[in-house]
Amino acid sequence: MIDLILRGGTVHDGLGSAPETADVAISGSRVVAVGPGLSGARRELDVAGLIVAPGFVDAHAHSDLVPLMDEPQPFKLLQGVTTEINGNCGYSYAPDASRLEELTGVSVPDWTFAAYLSAVAVAGPSNHVATLVGHSTLRGAVAGFAPELAEGDLDRMCELAADAFEAGACGLSSGLIYPPGSYAGTGELVALARVAHRYGVPYTTHLRDEGAAVGEALDEAIEIARRARVRLQVSHCKVAGRPNHGRASLLLDRLRAARAAGVDVRGDQYPYLAGATVLAALLPPSALAGGRLREVLASPFERLRLRSLAEAGGTGSGLWGDAVPAGILVTSHADASFTGRTLAAIAGERDPWEVACDLVAADPAAQMVIEMMAEEDVAEIMADPLIGIGSDNGPPTGLEHPRTWGCFPRFLGSYVRERGVVGWAEAVRKMTSATADQFGLRGRGWLGAGAYADVCVFDPATVGHTGTYTDPSARPTGIVHVLLEGRVVVESGEFTGGRHGRVLRP
Ligand SMILES: [Zn+2]
Repeated sequence: MIDLILRGGTVHDGLGSAPETADVAISGSRVVAVGPGLSGARRELDVAGLIVAPGFVDAHAHSDLVPLMDEPQPFKLLQGVTTEINGNCGYSYAPDASRLEELTGVSVPDWTFAAYLSAVAVAGPSNHVATLVGHSTLRGAVAGFAPELAEGDLDRMCELAADAFEAGACGLSSGLIYPPGSYAGTGELVALARVAHRYGVPYTTHLRDEGAAVGEALDEAIEIARRARVRLQVSHCKVAGRPNHGRASLLLDRLRAARAAGVDVRGDQYPYLAGATVLAALLPPSALAGGRLREVLASPFERLRLRSLAEAGGTGSGLWGDAVPAGILVTSHADASFTGRTLAAIAGERDPWEVACDLVAADPAAQMVIEMMAEEDVAEIMADPLIGIGSDNGPPTGLEHPRTWGCFPRFLGSYVRERGVVGWAEAVRKMTSATADQFGLRGRGWLGAGAYADVCVFDPATVGHTGTYTDPSARPTGIVHVLLEGRVVVESGEFTGGRHGRVLRP
């Protein structure tokens, strides 16, 4: 018996094939047939004129703690996303993440990786989640914020990484602009990536530099992948900073050359000109050494020293030189009177550097949205077949970057329909199989008999997102139905309730 037929839609298989007008038959959690004239189902949904695609897979999410929130959180399902990859940028919330509280601003129990995954499974995520183990978390668990590892520390980190992969971590992530990850040399990352290799999972990285030194930073990531023989995922690909605009080929040429040399590298991207991160990322990472940030910022001499590093640009300079004060929006701060205002507005007549230091000293976990990319680079990177889509979202509360609520609909509406940067079949592939394959999610990211019935049905004429940096949480348009293993969790644009996602292991 067939449970459900999606009748007469334009079916994209997620592999980039030409679409066909067909019915999709679903039984239990699986697609059982795709073709014309299917019949005999308990229920049918007429989807003529709509695109039927595999549920989107978000390559780069930070929803690690979202499943533990009191209410179900449909913010990804409402974008058509059925699976998120969490634990990015070096930060997972296990193992033993309590020592990173100063940076994350959140306190969590000292979970093992297995305990974290079972806490998520018990709470019940609203969509499927797979989780990377973070290098900064591993380092923090063993050595706190110490810049140098002691004898035996790296071995211990490798053991913890192996435990995480045994428990079901879908890869290793790093965030090399954030301490303590930023203290690592290449050799330390190779050692950990070799553990990932033993489990056949990839290495994802927020590069050591995404601006002037992005080429060298990418060379390092490729070297790590080559020496450890792992697949490489370059997170949120960009060329940041006004002096670097127009240099997307610097990144793309290296990705292509690495593949030609046998390294299996891909990347992901969010379709915006602004990023979002902690306000402290404006400062050189050395400011955060040893967890002494407040102490360092209390010294006028240190502020001057940091400023000269920041203004020099390149590796170790932080994001200060990549943006202007009017392009830096404070989105969360312990003093709520600063949120929703730009650094330029907060500073007024005062020196913006000093004001930024004051803001960070007052709340080291404060967050910002920072405009640092150029439209031509975003489009050039997007058009490359090696690049998939990842939102880099924050939690779905408060003033977050609009990518949290609208990344996928915006990509489809603004870049595919309006600008034609890529065609629909390729756009769907970028959001589905490109990422599912990279993270070893079998049976997902494509649509055909035998696949899991994670499905997104959307209207190509209306899909989009109107959220802005100051009013980000608008509901996306054009996402009509979303299915999670055969269950209709979004119907006619409305969340139907429940926590039906799974913890996925590769
Ligand atoms: Zn990142």
